Amino acid sequence: MEHIYDVVIIGGGPAGYTAALYAARAGRDTVILEKLSAGGQMATTAQIDNYPGFDEGVDGFELAMKMQQQAERFGAKTELAEVQEVKLAGEVKEITTDSGMIKGRTVIIATGANPRKMGIAKEDSLIGRGVGYCAHCDGMFYRGKTVAVVGGGNTAAADALLLSRICERVHLVHRREELRATKIYHEPMMQAENIKFHWNAKVVDLTEEGKVTGMVLENVKTGEKETVPCDGVFVSIGREPATELFAGQIDLDESGYILADETTRTNIPGVFAVGDVRQKALRQVVTAVADGAVASHYADEYLAEQA
Ligand SMILES: Cc1cc2nc3c(=O)[nH]c(=O)nc-3n(C[C@H](O)[C@H](O)[C@H](O)COP(=O)(O)OP(=O)(O)OC[C@H]3O[C@@H](n4cnc5c(N)ncnc54)[C@H](O)[C@@H]3O)c2cc1C
Repeated sequence: MEHIYDVVIIGGGPAGYTAALYAARAGRDTVILEKLSAGGQMATTAQIDNYPGFDEGVDGFELAMKMQQQAERFGAKTELAEVQEVKLAGEVKEITTDSGMIKGRTVIIATGANPRKMGIAKEDSLIGRGVGYCAHCDGMFYRGKTVAVVGGGNTAAADALLLSRICERVHLVHRREELRATKIYHEPMMQAENIKFHWNAKVVDLTEEGKVTGMVLENVKTGEKETVPCDGVFVSIGREPATELFAGQIDLDESGYILADETTRTNIPGVFAVGDVRQKALRQVVTAVADGAVASHYADEYLAEQA
């Protein structure tokens, strides 16, 4: 007899494991397919200070292990496998992984999104030691210090404004002559006395003494270089949602995020999208776990209707 799960969750980050926790506790036969290890992006950060309930903050890896164990305590199963192809249209959904085929009556997509990198030497080795991708997450670590924000879109503008309230000085580095961010950001940014703009500039190198001490900027028009001292560099040049697998089946927005509203339902009945992979305003652990709970509620309702 072929096995058909009630709920197949693709991606074992905080959104996926919360969906698994709720689905398993509702008595649904649930599997999580994860290609690396539990926790997703969350597991890569040593200190999460904005997840409620942890007054001293919590290690992202530790929180990931706890989320996995909690879901598994109620019977959710983890399979370490990379999903390579999906067929989502039918009543029974088919998911091909690198270790075989999995079938499910519902699918919850929780594959996340990864920050786009600058692609310069030292960037990876200085992540968490001055290089960051989330001002909401790590901005407070730079209270009273000097930081840079790289980018010129809405996220970069919002990050620069947020950091200007926390830090002594913010350098905004943008490769064009003006911001791409919507007009509402322009005036407050121009008025913030501690934001310094570096137009037509890109970061080509970082200086370090175990952690970031500065950045080398190159003027993209003249090729001229300057070294600007700073304690942190926040890279805000966009994110890449992990949605290639679903293109052509699931409706995506122009940036590749899955279109699913607060119900987390997608355009395909029985398929839901949660966490960073979904079009939404704020991509954080707390919003990812909320999505996971909501998706399980609607998946449960869908399964009850099909029975
Ligand atoms: C360095 C860093 C620090 C951060 N700090 C904070 C913070 O302090 N506070 C906060 O609230 N947020 C923080 N965030 C953001 C937070 O981690 C994310 O918003 C959150 O992890 C999103 O959860 P998710 O479950 O939607 O996706 P993800 O965490 O991205 O998880 C997606 C999972 O899906 C898996 N996957 C993808 N494709 C496949 C496939 N084809 N087959 C199988 N598995 C697949 C991935 O391996 C991954 O484990 C931080 C992010 C980073 C990168």
